[in-house]
Amino acid sequence: MTDQTIDATIDAASAAAAALGARGGRARSDAKTEAARANGQKGGRPRTRPSVRYRCARCRKTIDGAASRAPFCPTRHRTPVRMLRVAEAA
Ligand SMILES: [Zn+2]
Repeated sequence: MTDQTIDATIDAASAAAAALGARGGRARSDAKTEAARANGQKGGRPRTRPSVRYRCARCRKTIDGAASRAPFCPTRHRTPVRMLRVAEAA
């Protein structure tokens, strides 16, 4: 057996394996690949926000949160009290 016939046999075997794999269906459709590319153009996943500590000005309770807007104090005050941003929590 020459090197060339060995190469040809390997090519034929991998072609047969590829055909078998294709019959089973693809793991990812062309439409999905295209959609993923388009989404990638928009910048991908948003960054995770660092945790921020908030303090209630009325009862001094502190909580850690990653909210884009200051949360209301969980203590039941007579009126809802928005908490104040204190510092970046560890
Ligand atoms: Zn409070």
